[in-house]
Amino acid sequence: MKKEKTWLTRKKRPIVIAGPCSAESEEQVLQTAHRLKKTEKVDIYRAGIWKPRTRPNSFEGVGVVGLPWLKKVKEETGFPVTAEVAKASHVENCLQFEIDILWIGARTTVNPFAVQEIADALKGVDIPILVKNPINPDLSLWLGGIERLEKAGIQEIGGIHRGFSNLGEKFYRNRPQWQIALEFKRLRPDLPLLNDPSHICGRRDILQEVGQKAMDLDFDGLMIESHIDPDNAWSDAKQQITPEVLGRMITEMQLREDYEDVAPLQSELEYLRAEINHIDDELLNLLSNRMNIARQIGLYKKNNNMTILQQKRWNDIIDKSKKQAKGKELSEEFILRFISAIHDESINQQEKIFRE
Ligand code: PEP
Ligand code: MN
Repeated sequence: MKKEKTWLTRKKRPIVIAGPCSAESEEQVLQTAHRLKKTEKVDIYRAGIWKPRTRPNSFEGVGVVGLPWLKKVKEETGFPVTAEVAKASHVENCLQFEIDILWIGARTTVNPFAVQEIADALKGVDIPILVKNPINPDLSLWLGGIERLEKAGIQEIGGIHRGFSNLGEKFYRNRPQWQIALEFKRLRPDLPLLNDPSHICGRRDILQEVGQKAMDLDFDGLMIESHIDPDNAWSDAKQQITPEVLGRMITEMQLREDYEDVAPLQSELEYLRAEINHIDDELLNLLSNRMNIARQIGLYKKNNNMTILQQKRWNDIIDKSKKQAKGKELSEEFILRFISAIHDESINQQEKIFRE
């Protein structure tokens, strides 16, 4: 008989998973759980038992001794509980202590051997499992991890978008790159997708806005780290919030609907959408004309033995675009991305002419 899908259904939105980054002591785990319970905003309790840390001298989790604490959380609060697994022995330990849901962390999703080992350890077991995106912005790797679990027979799977590491990123701890999450939603509309603002932000002050953005992008839920004494947490101290702050955060979230089936609401938008479509058509025509000229320039460069990249010209284009962006309500970051994408395609087209 197929098990009723319970924990990750889309009926309730947002599904909220909360709890400390790491289980530290029985008292901390239980106190956090009781205070989260009191907020009435949390559905599932999380705590990291084994912590995949970047540097070896950080706290690497309490290990198996923490699993009975989670079992106690279940008994005392009724929360289903979830913990991160990174290898077969973690899976076995979690099953032994009746952990309800497993999650695979970003540093594990990145490694197909590790995901396969977890999938193999789960053959014949039907437990819900959440798969965080890999640390690198590779959607196939994320989807591939999920497919490995599906092949092992896991019925209930969800994704967690926790951002992507990026050299030089300062604002976020992990860049959200929302487009990757949206592409995940487009390709796997059958799977719930949660957002983890804690690991995206790496700090408290922007958690609310990132969580809200996820709600406005129609995510199904949120995983947020919460600690009774955030500043003194043994891991990820800067991004954790108290249960009460978390409760307020969820209360203050604006929950909107997509109303895709409500014809009158949709038809009001038709006029503006027609304008957008028209502008998109024009943009594509302009781009096609621009590439045509780029190819003519490519031929000229080839005939005159000139390099494709003319550094001074490219610097001028960047400067000009940045200046123009200012008066047009376009962010400099977007303009640079946009003009760089066009430039990249021009280079490819010229390169093709060089090879002919
Ligand atoms: C975590 O949830 O505490 C964690 C380690 O997350 P991630 O795998 O996203 O880094
Ligand atoms: Mn963490």
